[in-house]
Amino acid sequence: SLVAAREALDRLIRDVPDFPEPGVVFKDITPVLADHAGLAAVVAGLAEAGRDEQGRSVVDTVVGMEARGFILGAPVALALGAGFVPVRKAGKLPRETHAVSYDLEYGSATLELHTDAVRAGSRVLLVDDVLATGGTARATVELVERCGATVVGVAVLMDLAFLPWRDALGEVAVTTLLSVG
Ligand code: AMP
Repeated sequence: SLVAAREALDRLIRDVPDFPEPGVVFKDITPVLADHAGLAAVVAGLAEAGRDEQGRSVVDTVVGMEARGFILGAPVALALGAGFVPVRKAGKLPRETHAVSYDLEYGSATLELHTDAVRAGSRVLLVDDVLATGGTARATVELVERCGATVVGVAVLMDLAFLPWRDALGEVAVTTLLSVG
């Protein structure tokens, strides 16, 4: 249940001040992954974002963003009867890719998706651990749409409520198991 997922996150997430740089509070999810009940609860909670009211999967593909989106996205895909596709940082995928660059506080980042990884017309759920500025999720939506597929929603363990991720994501449906202030 969502309650079990929220309890696991509240109990197990560790705040790490000033990592990776001063002023950032890093949300360390590794204790959640290490706890079987916690891991099961959050995977089940994320998978709810890919079901209709009758509990049926509405997703053919789960796309996970490097790197924690890989760990969470693959079991969510299995739970939904879907396949898993990775979105990676530039230069990691070996075949032809779509690429989208976006601005960071300092400089920019590029994400890539294999051009043949997501079929046109398929229905895609994006999975990651933390939604902060929303830049990573926004770029991933663009990559999936370049394949001619539809983003059903974005599912994350946690959103940072004081950051403008909603503006970055426009009309895209967002499921977040926990909002942190
Ligand atoms: P953003 O593109 O700003 O929404 O940032 C999202 C990406 O950066 C996700 O892949 C997160 O894993 C990571 N991230 C951003 N902020 C944090 C944070 N405070 N703690 C942990 N991970 C974060």
